[in-house]
Amino acid sequence: NPIVLLGSGAREHAMAWKLTRDGATVHVLPGNAGIPNSHPEISATDFPAIQAFCQEHGVKLVVVGPEAPLAAGVTDFFHGSDIRVFGPGRAGATLESSKVWSKDFMRRHGVATAQAWPFRSDKLDAARAKATELSGQVVVKFDGLAAGKGVYVCSSVAEAHAALDDLARLHSGWFSFLLEEKLTGPEISIIGITDGNRIRLLSPSQDHKQLLAGDQGPNTGGMGAYCPVPFCDDNVLAAIRTDIVDPTLRGLQNEQFDFNGFLYFGIMLTPQGPKLLEYNTRLGDPEAEVLLPALESSLLELIEATLDGTLQQTVVRQRRGHYVGVVLASGGYPAASFPTGFPITGLDQLHPSILAFHGATKRTETGELVTNGGRVLVLVGHGEELEDAVQHVYREAEKVNFQDVYIRTDIGQRPEPTLAG
Ligand code: ATP
Repeated sequence: NPIVLLGSGAREHAMAWKLTRDGATVHVLPGNAGIPNSHPEISATDFPAIQAFCQEHGVKLVVVGPEAPLAAGVTDFFHGSDIRVFGPGRAGATLESSKVWSKDFMRRHGVATAQAWPFRSDKLDAARAKATELSGQVVVKFDGLAAGKGVYVCSSVAEAHAALDDLARLHSGWFSFLLEEKLTGPEISIIGITDGNRIRLLSPSQDHKQLLAGDQGPNTGGMGAYCPVPFCDDNVLAAIRTDIVDPTLRGLQNEQFDFNGFLYFGIMLTPQGPKLLEYNTRLGDPEAEVLLPALESSLLELIEATLDGTLQQTVVRQRRGHYVGVVLASGGYPAASFPTGFPITGLDQLHPSILAFHGATKRTETGELVTNGGRVLVLVGHGEELEDAVQHVYREAEKVNFQDVYIRTDIGQRPEPTLAG
């Protein structure tokens, strides 16, 4: 049966690749130059056009990749029709789209998380005083979607006050924000598939958000990811279940959320145990590009089981070994603008075991593949050991080229942290 997948990045390429392997015929709206069956004329937030496409092609299932269609209410739009949507409704998506709301949800349901104090923009002075009281060891978070520019991790009173000034400067109207206790420890991503009652977790993964090796430089959408995470062993996972995942599910049940889809827990492993930094209501990008190749079970079956209410009867099987995904980015990314349109060469030279997921690529009128944005491609390698996967993918990445290509050099090679407890 044909399905529609919404989105246009390397995450959606990985999702389309996996669903196709699982036996589905996948149409991707809008997709991109590297994703088979892309339909660039249909935007992922043009719901009437998506509906017309589904009717024309006999599609009864829509799977959502990115956050924008969820926040815009794609699930609510199709509610009551014969087209099922895998992804939460607008209310469920608030877990991601409002940091103040989701922090409240965590608190109501006893989810382990950093202490936090919500403020409105007319209370900046009170926030300054609170930041001073906490010696500036705070994180300032704008409440709402801020394209990765809404979080300030501060280390001094001066930094915290500057962050508050910055908020006031960037957002002229009325807004809300959080001051959060600053935590320390390694971060991991735990992503599950849930029907709001049960959850099936995929492998623990880690992404690398900063541009430069050693976690330096500006934040990006993610420069690479790997899975599983060696130090995230059964004990750590058990604590994450008890302190974060289970209370979240109880909360979804108690508040009668109609939630189905991916649920992403961004977690910091602090000396006081795992703490939740944020929820996302979708697969991470670039986490998806390693998690889906690592998933042996059928994603299609998991999605159908979620919508049928039979998730309880499924198990998730993972493939052996390790997966490492490195992003090939345009030079200049993540600045506001940088040159694109450069021809991409070498993809046909890659070893057959390497997966190449397209993010920002396009074809020119003459059919040439060129760069079309910041995160151009994600190459994924597999190895028995993490180190094998790392070496394999970096060796292969040398074959792919475009002008000013940038690759972070230490994906999957963070020093092993010492975890307290
Ligand atoms: P993302 O791009 O991951 O969706 P976001 O902008 O929604 O990020 P958060 O995930 O809440 O925001 O925070 C971004 C980053 O800031 C985290 O990955 C983490 O490194 C850091 N951070 C957030 N909260 C805290 C905290 N309480 N203590 C220390 N660091 C934090």
